Amino acid sequence: MTQKMLSEAEGYDILRKYDIPVPEYQIVKNGEDAAFAAEKMGCPVVMKIISPQIVHKSDAGGVMVGIGSRKAALGAFTKIIDNAKAYNAGAQIDGVMVEQQAEPGLELIIGGRTDPAFGKVITFGMGGTMVELMKDVTLRILPVTEDEIRQMVREINAYPLITGYRGAKPRDEETLVRIIGNVCRFFEENEHIVEFDINPLRLYESGACAVDARVIVSDTVHAVERKERIPVPIEYFTPRSIAVIGASQDSTKMGYAVMHNLLHFPGQLYPVNNKRSEIQGLKAYPNITAIPAPVDMAVITVPAIHVPAVVEECGAKGVPMVVIVTAGFKEMGPQGKALEDRVVTIAKGHGTRIIGPNCLGVIVPPRGIDTTYVRQSPKPGNIAFLSQSGAIINTVVDWSLAQNIGFSNVISVGNQSDLDFLDYLQYVEKDPKTKAIIMYIEQINDGKAFMEVVSKVAQSKPVIAIKSGSSRRGSAAASSHTGSLSGSYDVYMEAFRKSGVIAVHTLTGAFLAARMLAHPKRYPKGRRAVVITNAGGFAVLSSDYAERYGIELIDLPRNVIEELNEFLPDFWNKGNPIDLLGDATEKRFEKTFDVLIKHGDLWDMAFIVDFPNLVLTSEQLAKQILRFSERTENRLIVTMLGGDSLNVGREMLKEHDIPSFDELDFTFRVMGRVLWQMFRVKAPGLL
Ligand code: ADP
Ligand code: MG
Repeated sequence: MTQKMLSEAEGYDILRKYDIPVPEYQIVKNGEDAAFAAEKMGCPVVMKIISPQIVHKSDAGGVMVGIGSRKAALGAFTKIIDNAKAYNAGAQIDGVMVEQQAEPGLELIIGGRTDPAFGKVITFGMGGTMVELMKDVTLRILPVTEDEIRQMVREINAYPLITGYRGAKPRDEETLVRIIGNVCRFFEENEHIVEFDINPLRLYESGACAVDARVIVSDTVHAVERKERIPVPIEYFTPRSIAVIGASQDSTKMGYAVMHNLLHFPGQLYPVNNKRSEIQGLKAYPNITAIPAPVDMAVITVPAIHVPAVVEECGAKGVPMVVIVTAGFKEMGPQGKALEDRVVTIAKGHGTRIIGPNCLGVIVPPRGIDTTYVRQSPKPGNIAFLSQSGAIINTVVDWSLAQNIGFSNVISVGNQSDLDFLDYLQYVEKDPKTKAIIMYIEQINDGKAFMEVVSKVAQSKPVIAIKSGSSRRGSAAASSHTGSLSGSYDVYMEAFRKSGVIAVHTLTGAFLAARMLAHPKRYPKGRRAVVITNAGGFAVLSSDYAERYGIELIDLPRNVIEELNEFLPDFWNKGNPIDLLGDATEKRFEKTFDVLIKHGDLWDMAFIVDFPNLVLTSEQLAKQILRFSERTENRLIVTMLGGDSLNVGREMLKEHDIPSFDELDFTFRVMGRVLWQMFRVKAPGLL
């Protein structure tokens, strides 16, 4: 693949075809011609160096503006050439461009690049020579609608400069929207263009003008490898019989740990070992063929080199699914890749599906299935966890035991040689036990296919994602202004947002979000919130966190305050957060909740924050929260701040899928993430 940069003149010519205004220009090779061109065009003019090696012309002293006469143009020509030579002695100089000087205007940038997973991406933001300093840009994955373009324009911090800041006249937003639309079309229709930036685009009170264009073309067209997708029947994940190939009696072996975790499996379990007749108390078979009954799933732990033969045997026996725990495949380089390809071909020949290789496999706690070597199997629950890292599964499972969090499924995707994230997503979407899905993602190959599938899944179940690695991949963006403004990580975040996936930054946040959203009411309808607490200090902190994470605390209308005045002490704060004071009893909470039930149209979610004390047991509060929850359509989010003394209440709520959190900042932050996903709320804490 070779890439080259078009000259600015070539860039202008393409943009003009897409109805994007650019200055008149002329290319000159000597001072005389420059002077002549300047006069003909009408001073003042701008002169710029033309060199394929000089990407940022200003840095090379290659741009001169405000050239007011013939004579000045003559001098400018020599100066620009001298500057360019001093900057890069080896640069090829193709002449100088003389162009009309555009009126000063608001300098914006429109850029585009090609993401290895998600394809063409468009960026927009504050332009000029200080773009890297400002970093005020937003991005979208193509294609985009006009509505999305309008939203993009409104999203940058500098948007007030467009609408008219401090008495300035508003600028031509309509033209801007139209130009961005045309730029998108230009990028989509020219498949060889892999990257570009128009910096700056000058925006006026009426109209606009692009005064620089850097366009990179490639001789190869970017294409994501699309894989043939054969759906996996859901029963494949609920085997009635499992064979462990490489089962071991030696506690230092992987085949021992896997067997050990499967001993609780209520179905048929068959150890396969060619040296022993009994493994961990069960009759062992020398090979899978010797098992006298059908096998629904085979877990393979033998060394990589033996895997093709074992998969061949499994296929011949008609095993529908194999879990290859063994490592030493694609992740080891070309030789490993070849071995993996062989295994895939063999399996395909028999219609056998593969989980892995190089994975922990699957845990389905409600069915007693655990093909992994985690120290202790997790508890059953309603969260499905799909992970590209095995180590993270070990950690999360261990941690979940102490946190009393259970799973419907835990799947380690491994090398995804056959089944991949998309298959697992489709499975957990159908799995009735799963109420929320968490994914830990390192990299996705086919971004468009991912978005298609996950958008659908996210409509029926909340999907939460943690994406690791904010570093940039691929060299396509390396030379770019815009490339450094938005990395691959930002593209993932945008893909998640567009697909309805909640993006979080930490594992703890992921589980909080999953627990919050596993409730049947799922998302709040809007951003309006009330806070009810018996702790004055937490009332203040709640206001701080709400502001930081983009949650709108409503002002209570007069009539609501009057209704509350009826039974609250005279000196209550008469505002939101509603501080019921430290001596608040069950009755006081109940009456307050009643007022909020009655005025349910004023708010979308209620944060209930309490601390342990002697006038209110956690049980009493939980009882009132449950009553409140039954009588409102809105979302309740409970934070019980204290130690074990609150456990009775916490358990009561949990039984009704109302999680109670124990850290206030996190509670607001996670809800803020949810709102960001839904409404693109901008808040300082969500950056
Ligand atoms: P660079 O390669 O450094 O980005 P540009 O072509 O963008 O070079 O020129 C640098 C700056 O000069 C621009 O940001 C813009 O402010 C100004 N400029 C360039 N061309 C024109 C023009 N035709 N009219 C007015 N100003 C211009
Ligand atoms: Mg520029």
